Amino acid sequence: MSTRSAVVVGGGFAGLTSAYYLRRAGWQVRLIEASGLVGGRVATVRRQGYTMDTGATQISTGYTEYLALCAELGLSQEIVASSQAIGFIRHGRIHVIDARRPITAGFTPLLSWSAKLSTLKTLKDYRSLRPSIDVRDVSAHYAKDTMSAKTYAEKRLNREVYDALIDPLLRAYVMNRASNVSVLEWFSTLGNLAGRNMISINGGNDRLPLALANGLDLRLSTSAQSVRKIDRGVEIVIRTASGAQDVLTADTCVLATRLPEALAIYPPARELAGSLTQTLTYNRGLCIDVGYRLRPRNLAIGLLLGAVEHQQIGLIWAQHNKNPDRVPAGHSLFTVYFDEAINDQYFNAGDESLVDIASTYVERLFPELGGQRDLSHVTRWPLAIPNPAPGYYRQIHEMKARIDPADRLQLAGDYFTCVGQNSAIYYGKQSAERLIRHHGQSR
Ligand SMILES: Cc1cc2nc3c(=O)[nH]c(=O)nc-3n(C[C@H](O)[C@H](O)[C@H](O)COP(=O)(O)OP(=O)(O)OC[C@H]3O[C@@H](n4cnc5c(N)ncnc54)[C@H](O)[C@@H]3O)c2cc1C
Repeated sequence: MSTRSAVVVGGGFAGLTSAYYLRRAGWQVRLIEASGLVGGRVATVRRQGYTMDTGATQISTGYTEYLALCAELGLSQEIVASSQAIGFIRHGRIHVIDARRPITAGFTPLLSWSAKLSTLKTLKDYRSLRPSIDVRDVSAHYAKDTMSAKTYAEKRLNREVYDALIDPLLRAYVMNRASNVSVLEWFSTLGNLAGRNMISINGGNDRLPLALANGLDLRLSTSAQSVRKIDRGVEIVIRTASGAQDVLTADTCVLATRLPEALAIYPPARELAGSLTQTLTYNRGLCIDVGYRLRPRNLAIGLLLGAVEHQQIGLIWAQHNKNPDRVPAGHSLFTVYFDEAINDQYFNAGDESLVDIASTYVERLFPELGGQRDLSHVTRWPLAIPNPAPGYYRQIHEMKARIDPADRLQLAGDYFTCVGQNSAIYYGKQSAERLIRHHGQSR
């Protein structure tokens, strides 16, 4: 029996997972990655004793696919608990809530009593979803994707819940304001939080991508220019680091890039994507790491805030509370994420002015950090997060219905459901399973 072959385009979690499972099934796999590193939007920079996860930062016990891969690759021992405290910033003050016991939120002055009652109403709306929401397939609930989270809050809840809870949580998840995001993303966010504990992998988030890539036939700094189906196979035109062009052929192919990149190299996929080709936009990721020689006593892992608190800053992640191994002993590291709504103005601003905005706010929250800064790092992701605007999940649902699971060319990526590493892994694995099921036998 001849060995089956695949070319996987894209070395993020979706492509690496797909390649890993195909190879495990005995396939001959080549993985093409345009950049010089594997991991895609999962990246780690190490400097001055700090370990900065400059792309994806947090995982949780709800990341079942991620944790299954860790178990396969002998990394389970490297998973540790993060702090479970979350801080909501309201009127400049941090209100800390134990994420494991959301009931404690009922006792904080974060919300008025009427807002607390409204919160119960949105929990009831979430619980009434049937079947209950599965974060690996949020688009299954496309019928609810009818309005923005802000419109939902105005119609069903109140402004206070929006400002203090919904906008901060959605800015944390997708780096955009809740006015630009579907109400279904709000329910998906509740699904992502429900009963989960926050955890972290020791040593840096690039560990799992690196472990997946180990032993793969990997072509870094090589980009796929175009892909087309040929008689009983697939042909991929690539450009290598030296600028040379080459042609690869294989029985099958997985396109594990972001959706606009997949459409550019394989135009027939436009028919599958349908109206998404016009409406899908990506939120940019503008992330500022600021390290300090001192660690505040506050245990909150995330500091969440609505646009009423700060127009530019949408989220602050306290990396030392995620995993103390990310900083030198006694130090702290804050990642400050900017809001897509202001990125036109700030995305290309100079590093110094961005670090200034970020550190000024962090030091306003923690005055003891003044004069203690010893590191800063700016990361820009031009295509960070597919924006789940109202209607997005309906279009994703329609796209999924048009995809032929038996096709020798499969798409994989985080855009098939709510964004995240676990989603990318899930759809990467699905693409491998589909190829193995439908093309696993020799001709
Ligand atoms: C700033 C930021 C913060 C985030 N925070 C979190 C978080 O806390 N938790 C979480 O779970 N998720 C988070 N995410 C999301 C998470 O990183 C992604 O959902 C996930 O990593 C996507 O994986 P992927 O494989 O689908 O895509 P990618 O990681 O984007 O991989 C696609 C790969 O394809 C390559 N490529 C593109 N075109 C070509 C071509 N023509 N030829 C060859 N290669 C090509 C790209 O270089 C890239 O490496 C965050 C993302 C960002 C940017």
